[in-house]
Amino acid sequence: MAVPKSKITRSRRGQRRSHDALVAGNPNECTNCGELKRPHHVCASCGHYDDREVVAMTEEVDIDEDAA
Ligand SMILES: [Zn+2]
Repeated sequence: MAVPKSKITRSRRGQRRSHDALVAGNPNECTNCGELKRPHHVCASCGHYDDREVVAMTEEVDIDEDAA
């Protein structure tokens, strides 16, 4: 196993971790339903992309009852 030759100082550890922060998403409002959606993705709530329906939305299906 590789063993570190010397201690990583607080400063050096902090410098490495300065790039570790997670970046928040950048959601846009859907032009059809106003729901927040990921840019360049089909709207998850209404199935629209670029002002037309590309994914047909079905009625709500209760799958919990049938599973048992
Ligand atoms: Zn939508």
